[in-house]
Amino acid sequence: MYKIMTAGPTQVRENVRLARSLECTNPDLDLAFYDFYKETCDLLSKALHTKNKAFILGGEGILGLEAACASLTEPNDRVLVIDNGIFGKGFVDFVKIYGGNPVLYTDDYHKSVNIEKLKSFLKTDHDFKYATIVHCDTPSGVLNDVESISKILDEYGIMSVVDSVAGMFGEPLNISNSKIDILCGGSQKALSAPPGLTMVWVSDRAFKAMEERTTPIASFYANILVFKNYYEEKWFPYTMPISDIYGLRKALDNFLDDQDVFKRHERIASACRKAITKAGLQLYLEDGWSNTVTVIKVPNGVTDTQILNGMQQDYQIMISGCFDVLAGKVIRIGHMGENAYANKVAETLEALQKTLENLGVLVERNMKELFLSYL
Ligand SMILES: *Cc1c(COP(=O)(O)O)cnc(C)c1O
Repeated sequence: MYKIMTAGPTQVRENVRLARSLECTNPDLDLAFYDFYKETCDLLSKALHTKNKAFILGGEGILGLEAACASLTEPNDRVLVIDNGIFGKGFVDFVKIYGGNPVLYTDDYHKSVNIEKLKSFLKTDHDFKYATIVHCDTPSGVLNDVESISKILDEYGIMSVVDSVAGMFGEPLNISNSKIDILCGGSQKALSAPPGLTMVWVSDRAFKAMEERTTPIASFYANILVFKNYYEEKWFPYTMPISDIYGLRKALDNFLDDQDVFKRHERIASACRKAITKAGLQLYLEDGWSNTVTVIKVPNGVTDTQILNGMQQDYQIMISGCFDVLAGKVIRIGHMGENAYANKVAETLEALQKTLENLGVLVERNMKELFLSYL
């Protein structure tokens, strides 16, 4: 068994695994399940500081992104796709699939979206139904100020779809301090439930836009509107994955019980970045580091595969490589949710150090000791 220190999925606490083994009822027929589901969704709204309704959909994080685009996009709608990372750019595909006309706004991949630059772009072009933006773009680990960006978009009446799958629960996010219309999250990142569920938080304005469409939503499974009145009607559009939801609820309880959660992420992430750079390795980003993942350039003379294989074979620790334009260029340590504990990150840095040394890379200082000293 590997210890997974990947940028998602993350480790799953025992009480979450046990919650998933509880006896199942029929989630379509048992009214108590509607209450349980609603209570869980209300807690999700509370966790993100909003009265916007939350919904849990049966499908991985990607489903939430697709459902947001499916539900809002009508043919030929102009959609602003804010791109400073791989997931950011990826929204182009979802917009296109549903007939929209994506306009790509690309910024430097090595830092957070520059708000002043975005503002001047919007002065010249702001005829968009909605915009998409990623909170933490996990392949580079860049964090964007989605609260501020959504407010700027709102000045032009542009709705915001935000992918915070790898941000929320590890980075603070307050929907009521924003103009976010559809916020997308997932079970398997900082919430540390197993993969399989996506959560969406939907504003009244977004529901209104769905209801006022002139064309039908071109999907059933990715249609958010069909969830709107599930509780009043006691009807789910498809059978809810009840065991997954029991697990998610326990993971959410764990999050809500943890008063130190954001400070812990911050402490761990900051010490991890400092240890890595002091030891002579290089971070991918120039600024805008998310506290959920650290992304390190692959040192000269070795490959990502050699590092990942070495860590797995010799130390049974799994970290992530990358894909798309960052394939082969970086390795990633996911320190979010259950992974964001000092002993786990210390052990990972020790294994990384030994693996690099076994491969002939000179690491100037002891990363584990540095990390512990910076905590
Ligand atoms: C993990 C992740 C997703 C969801 O991807 P899945 O493959 O469905 O888990 C979406 N956006 C970001 C930024 C992510 O990190």
